Amino acid sequence: MEHYKILNVIGEGSFGRAILVCHQNTNHNYVMKEVRLPKSSGASQDSRQEAILLAKMKHPNIVKFKESFEENGHLFIVMEYCEEGDLLATIKHQRGKLFSEQTIVQWFVQMCLAVQHIHEKRVLHRDIKSKNIFLTQSRTIKLGDFGSARILSSPMAHACTYVGTPYYVPPEIWENIPYNNKSDIWSLGCVLYEICTLKHPFQAGSWKNLILKICHGSYSPLPSQYSYELRSLIRQMFRKDPRQRPSANTILTRRGLLKVVKSIVVTQTDDELSENFPQDELASVLQHINEPPAPLEDGGNVINYKLKEQRKKWKKETPESLLNILNNADLTTAFKTYTIYRSKPSEECLKGPLSTDVRGPDATDSREEEISMDPERLQSRSDDEDTDFEEEDMDTDWLSELKRVTEAQS
Ligand code: ADP
Ligand code: MG
Repeated sequence: MEHYKILNVIGEGSFGRAILVCHQNTNHNYVMKEVRLPKSSGASQDSRQEAILLAKMKHPNIVKFKESFEENGHLFIVMEYCEEGDLLATIKHQRGKLFSEQTIVQWFVQMCLAVQHIHEKRVLHRDIKSKNIFLTQSRTIKLGDFGSARILSSPMAHACTYVGTPYYVPPEIWENIPYNNKSDIWSLGCVLYEICTLKHPFQAGSWKNLILKICHGSYSPLPSQYSYELRSLIRQMFRKDPRQRPSANTILTRRGLLKVVKSIVVTQTDDELSENFPQDELASVLQHINEPPAPLEDGGNVINYKLKEQRKKWKKETPESLLNILNNADLTTAFKTYTIYRSKPSEECLKGPLSTDVRGPDATDSREEEISMDPERLQSRSDDEDTDFEEEDMDTDWLSELKRVTEAQS
C-alpha cells in the first residue's frame, strides 16, 4: 500500500471502493479496488476469486491485472486504469446522438475477443454490462469487474445466490436453468443493443413486465441506419434457447465481421499485445478467425467441451413462481449484485441508467407496434451439442436459495 499514492475515489459499491492511485516509483496511474473481506473464511475465499481470475486473464481487451495484496481485513486489487471510464457513461454522454456503425462494430469485436478469451479459459463472467466495460485513452475496449465471475472447476457453493443485474439477465436464469457461457452472450447482446440504440433492450415498469419481456424476447427494432448484419447478430444473441445462441467464436468468424476482427487482432499483436499476450493464444485466435465460418444452423463453430456426456436435468420452475417470491422481497438487500434503480423507493418501478421515461408500471407494454418479436425463438433446437459449458456442482437450485433468503428477511 505504501507504494501507492491515493488520488481519488472513482467508484463506490457494496464491495468497497475503486480508487485511482499513482505508483510512487513509476508515476503510473492504476485503479485499486478495495474489497472488504468478510469474516467467514469461505466468503473471503469468494472475494479472492476476483483477483485470482483477473490475474489469469491476459488479453488486450481485458483490464490488465498488476498485483493484489491484503491489509487490515481488506483485499486490494491493483489493475490498469482505463482513462475514458465505463461504456455506460460514454453512452450517456452521447445525449441521444447515435454511434456510427463502424464504432459499434470495432467495440463489439473487441468485447467478443475478450469474452472468447475468458470462455476459452472456462470462466464465466456473469455480469457483462456496459458499466463493467471500460475504454482507455486510445478508445480500446477493456472488459473488467470480475467480481461475479466463476471458474468452472471451483466449488460452486454460492453460485445459486447470484442473480446478476436484472436488465442483462437472460431468460434461462429467470427460468431456473443454470448459467452457461451462452448466458454471457445474451448479456453481451444487451450491450451491443445499448451501443446501437443508447437504450436498454428490455425496459418495463415492473418486475413482472421486465421478466416477461426478457422471456418473450420482445424489444424495439434497431434504428434503420444500421445494417442487416447488426440486426441479425442481435436477433441471434437474443435467442431464447441458449444452445441456439452463437458462441463468441462463432460470432468472431462471421463473414461480416471477419475483416474487422483480423485488423484488430493484427494491430493488437503489433502493439501492447506482443509483450504480454502469449504467442500460442494469439495463434489460437488467429486460427479461429482463419477458419471458414460454419453456418449457425448446424450448431455453429462453437467451443464444445465434452466433459459431461449427459446434460444435467434441472428442476424447471416457471417465472410465475419466481414472481410470487419476488412479490414480498426486499430486493435491494436480498441481492447485492442487483442494480435496481427505483424512481421512488415505494414504487414498483424499475429504472435503468438508460431507461426512457416509463409512465406507469405497464406503460411500455402498450406500445406493441414498436416491439419486434423474434420468430426464430419459436424454432426447435437444432443441435444438442451446441451447449458449451455451464455451472457445475450446484447443490441447491437458485430458486430454493432465493426463497430461503427472502423468507429469512420477512
Ligand atoms: P463493482 O463490483 O462495484 O461493480 P467495478 O470493478 O465495476 O466494481 O468498479 C466500480 C466502478 O469503478 C466502475 O463502474 C468504473 O466506473 C470504475 N472503475 C473500476 N475499474 C476501473 C478501471 N480499471 N478503470 C477505470 N475505471 C474503473
Ligand atoms: Mg461493476
